[in-house]
Amino acid sequence: MSLETLLRQAQRPLLIAHIAPDGDAIGSLLGLGWAMKELGRWPTLACADPVPESLQFLPGHDEIVSRRKGDEDVIVSLDSSDLLRLGSLYDQELFAALPVVNIDHHVTNVRFGSEQLIEPTAVSTSQIVYDLLRRLDWPVSPWSATCLLTGLITDTRSFRTSNTTAEALRTAVALIEAGAPLAEINGHLEHDIPMGVVTLWGRALSAARLQDGIVSVEVTRKLLRECGVSGGDASGLVSLVAGVRQAQIAVLFTEKPDGRVEVGLRSVPGVDVSGVALALGGGGHRQAAGCTLPGPLEAVRDTVLAHLAQMLAAAQPELRALGGSDSDA
Ligand code: AMP
Ligand code: MN
Ligand code: MN
Repeated sequence: MSLETLLRQAQRPLLIAHIAPDGDAIGSLLGLGWAMKELGRWPTLACADPVPESLQFLPGHDEIVSRRKGDEDVIVSLDSSDLLRLGSLYDQELFAALPVVNIDHHVTNVRFGSEQLIEPTAVSTSQIVYDLLRRLDWPVSPWSATCLLTGLITDTRSFRTSNTTAEALRTAVALIEAGAPLAEINGHLEHDIPMGVVTLWGRALSAARLQDGIVSVEVTRKLLRECGVSGGDASGLVSLVAGVRQAQIAVLFTEKPDGRVEVGLRSVPGVDVSGVALALGGGGHRQAAGCTLPGPLEAVRDTVLAHLAQMLAAAQPELRALGGSDSDA
């Protein structure tokens, strides 16, 4: 059965977004969920972790649950490169019993599931969902459009990432024409920094290090506690320091409450961080990837920086071919 037929026949699909959800995970979950609801289906919208406060403006966010209901007929995974990223919603027995549709744009997707719709060139999973809705001739209501556009905006950092295409911009226009309020969405996304995060940025940035083309920043549990913020709030830091002129790679280490360390990676075109993330048990895209490793932080720092330095040395010929610099660090 084709993926399209499977989705057309689904009455009670279980839609799942990845843990530590971002705007694309929640945006694609709700965007597809709204379309299905408008067709009279009964989707369960699920994510093992709570919706971040910054996304609690999205229509339908309060219907997202952290456990399944139990009578689903199809599973749809959104924006998740592997089953671990589904957290507690991954249930081996259930996943063996039901068709599993894997919709994603990570180059490191391990192709789990019985049906795959994986497009590594798509800027976001919400872009893939939008194309799917059009192919199925399903409605794109203002609510659905709002959620999908939020996914597009957040994964492209407002259409600034190097993978942003004319097609992504055309999709944004179509979603705005379908009723997505661009200014309102940007207002919610941009005017949302807790004061404690500014303090945290200041303290973390003042200790940023640059060595051999790699800029790194660390956020310890102690710093999070002192600033009164959570690890998720620190995630924007890596994109900030990725703009450092002398750096080809930016890395952010964040200590989680359980002592594990989240590693966020960014790179310039010509340097691919997805391979290092995958080798360390994570995943992502060429220019933005991540993984989570057991602590302590010092050991994680040494391991990750060693992997990155080795990869960066091997990438120098490609960087030179692209006109990048490897000598002004
Ligand atoms: P972040 O730095 O958290 O914004 O993540 C950048 C990219 O890496 C995103 O596309 C994530 O999906 C991916 N990523 C981050 N952490 C992990 C992880 N632990 N496992 C797999 N992929 C990850
Ligand atoms: Mn995501
Ligand atoms: Mn995404």
